[in-house]
Amino acid sequence: MAAAIKPLVAGNWKMNGLRASEGEFRKMVEGSIAGASGDCDLMICPPATLLASLSAIAADAPFSVGAQDCHVAQKGAHTGDLSAEMLKDAGAAAVIVGHSERRADHGETDEVVAAKAQAAWRAELLAIICVGETEAERKAGEAVAVVARQIAGSVPDGATAENTVIAYEPVWAIGTGLTPTPGDVADIHKSVREELVQRFGAEGESMRILYGGSVKPSNAVELLTVANVNGALVGGASLKAEDFLGITAAYS
Ligand code: PEP
Repeated sequence: MAAAIKPLVAGNWKMNGLRASEGEFRKMVEGSIAGASGDCDLMICPPATLLASLSAIAADAPFSVGAQDCHVAQKGAHTGDLSAEMLKDAGAAAVIVGHSERRADHGETDEVVAAKAQAAWRAELLAIICVGETEAERKAGEAVAVVARQIAGSVPDGATAENTVIAYEPVWAIGTGLTPTPGDVADIHKSVREELVQRFGAEGESMRILYGGSVKPSNAVELLTVANVNGALVGGASLKAEDFLGITAAYS
């Protein structure tokens, strides 16, 4: 039998957070040290401007810091972009790639997302690869097929349980307060697991599959204890220490 997968609860602060937010992060770190979090790995992905200061705050704590995007190149003439190597240098242990907001706002295709995942690995960062169907795709009964296609196109060969986490985030559930039923989550995560096992064998068995989309303390237990859900990617509710730690308590 495969070893139990340790869940990961990762917060995505998106374009929120100033230096003043360091205090909220400090509360999360102190809370985790004091035992207020569940039995899971903990991560916050702040805007890149806060990576260095948050990673310094978390230096001696069981808490890591990740970035929200990277460029595919290591360096060069790409004004305003950040390479995976720069993010690593600033203290990141991971980078989210292919978030639906980047797919929508920046036209990122599966091919671009796969190249960004490879850039993450090149810099020895964990790649958190996001997939998820739109509302129209779900209504058309295409959710499983869309997610399978995104996994096939966005997850490069060479993915392992060490270098990759998949985040299933239905687009219609992000920031809306809407969530799929636990049964719907179970169906998609089962199909993602099957895709991963078919392609990556034993690595696919132990790769973490996060659920993301309107997770909060009050729905965390029902969503995060579903079979093949190995943690959460949390947006809005990761901005407050009490909410973020409350979500992690689903794994107590
Ligand atoms: C996200 O954007 O990754 C997300 C899950 O957002 P929220 O939790 O706010 O729906």
